Amino acid sequence: MDFSRREFVKLFAFFPSILRSLTLSFKDDDSLKESMFYKKLPEKKIECQICPKKCRVSDLERGYCGNKENRGGKYYSLVYSKPCAMHVDPIEKKPLFHYLPGSRALSIATAGCNMECKFCQNWEISQFRPEQVRSSYLPPKKIVQLAKETKSLTIAYTYTEPVVFYTYMYDTAKMARAKGIGSVMISNGYINEEPMKKLCEILTGVKIDLKAFTENFYKKICSGELKPVLNTLKLLRSLNIWYEIVVLIIPTLNDSITEIKNMSSWIIDELGDMVPVHFTRFYPTYKIKNLPPTPVSTLEEIRNTALSKGLKFVYIGNVPGHEAENTYCPSCGKILIQRVGFMIIKNLIKEGKCPYCNKVIPGVWSNPL
Ligand code: SF4
Repeated sequence: MDFSRREFVKLFAFFPSILRSLTLSFKDDDSLKESMFYKKLPEKKIECQICPKKCRVSDLERGYCGNKENRGGKYYSLVYSKPCAMHVDPIEKKPLFHYLPGSRALSIATAGCNMECKFCQNWEISQFRPEQVRSSYLPPKKIVQLAKETKSLTIAYTYTEPVVFYTYMYDTAKMARAKGIGSVMISNGYINEEPMKKLCEILTGVKIDLKAFTENFYKKICSGELKPVLNTLKLLRSLNIWYEIVVLIIPTLNDSITEIKNMSSWIIDELGDMVPVHFTRFYPTYKIKNLPPTPVSTLEEIRNTALSKGLKFVYIGNVPGHEAENTYCPSCGKILIQRVGFMIIKNLIKEGKCPYCNKVIPGVWSNPL
């Protein structure tokens, strides 16, 4: 399906709130963009320093994520300006529950990921190379323009792993910020400290998937590591940027109450008790089709465990209509934000406070830019 940019904008104008998955084909542009954060090595090799994989890449080869290539000793992004998915989503879908509730996020992704989670919901784009997916040509300036035209307060870098399209995300977020549009990274948190710090200068929010609380799970199920993700969370806290945590609960793999207790204690000790944590329901997909969807009773038990450890904002996700989708005041217990799925039914928070008892509710409640 080919669209001119004008037709594309018209589509959004007619259906501004409808979820849209488009693979567009604008005028192709095969220009390359040099990647940020790599160092040159002898014999035209390079070391990518964006994420803990620290791939060493020879001339004409690619790193693990498959979307950057060494050409003559320079490392290039092959996905700069080339999103393979674009949607206008409610911010609740990210999920970010304490970040401009009820607002829209223009959401983009490119091919590639620095992990391979066996339960990935977007494996058809995250586990493929740029040349294996259809993409459109949308440089940062056009993304910002589309965000304005679709009345999106935020651009979300999401679906696959934005860490691996860092340079495109960085340039887009910087340009968006100058126009008063925020940027949120929806990420696995598997990123090195320096790139994360630089990014936080321009982002307005982050969501981190904490996939489990054991190295074994990260190694066997995700081809990743837990420790760097925990380091990213501690870094986010120290940088004072808004962030929320999501934990997808998969039956038998990461649903033990001991693990949830350990995770909750770590969060409270290292990040504080006010960080929102979303425990979400797994559905069989990709390479884990032999396990059932997470029982709602398991999610409820896990939520109760996290609450009893002391976490103040604990949500259940992927169970539309569940009462644990709502935000409750941790002081007086009243409902502050009522949600059904991704819809906001009511939002009573006034100037970041509970209207009943004046308790400060942490979050981003008005446009930060
Ligand atoms: S971003 Fe990609 S190329 Fe760079 S270190 Fe990570 S996996 Fe390797």
